[in-house]
Amino acid sequence: MQKSIDEAARILMDSRMTIALTGAGISVESGIPDFRSAEGLWATYDPAEYATIQAFRNDPEKVWRMLREMDEVVGRAKPNEAHTGMGELEQMGCLHCVITQNVDNLHQAGGSREVIEYHGNSSTLSCLWCGKQYRTEAKRGEIPPLCECQKVLKPDVIFFGEAIPEYAMRRSFELASSAEALLVVGTSAVVSPANTLPSVVKRNRAKIIEINKERTHLTDTVTDIFFEASAGKVIPQLVAAIRERKGSDG
Ligand SMILES: [Zn+2]
Repeated sequence: MQKSIDEAARILMDSRMTIALTGAGISVESGIPDFRSAEGLWATYDPAEYATIQAFRNDPEKVWRMLREMDEVVGRAKPNEAHTGMGELEQMGCLHCVITQNVDNLHQAGGSREVIEYHGNSSTLSCLWCGKQYRTEAKRGEIPPLCECQKVLKPDVIFFGEAIPEYAMRRSFELASSAEALLVVGTSAVVSPANTLPSVVKRNRAKIIEINKERTHLTDTVTDIFFEASAGKVIPQLVAAIRERKGSDG
């Protein structure tokens, strides 16, 4: 593994523009099970019944039974070493932006400043009727949380049936088309639009470094360096290797 760490560190140091694509896998070590896994939310709550925008509009109180569970799990989660390591990579100038499919706010909590969220963020709530926004924290005691206009608030996460935010789409594809390296972390990148980013970066012969606990469809097609390991183990080693090189490069 050390040889691959050194190689990956060199890629990250040489690249003038590196972006990361992350998914549920990076937050599992923070105690948030992948919604799609056997322990995940969708095992208990059928997403067709609880996670579509139509379901929310029809019966927001019912959907809040699922959201309360999500909020409990996400609310007590703390960034792990992969999140904080990516924050450090950004500070060192070796990572320019994180594009995430997660809604848990853990990249920001881990020190990343440039974060594009495909699926929104659960740390705020908005009113679909009057547009007022609240911190989730401030509404934690209310079940369901209500706007001052008395309507039920919706977390600012993208429900099934809602579009990926226009800005997130545009910005991530702009960055991908000029990226020289892509770090894929904790995602099999099968859900749109995340599934098209690797091929976009590959068009300019960018290097792809993949960190996943299992092989994915990327591993044998576009990935240059594959770490079959948890991100919490690999990313701190990358950070250490880059620090060491920066030290010796003067
Ligand atoms: Zn309102």
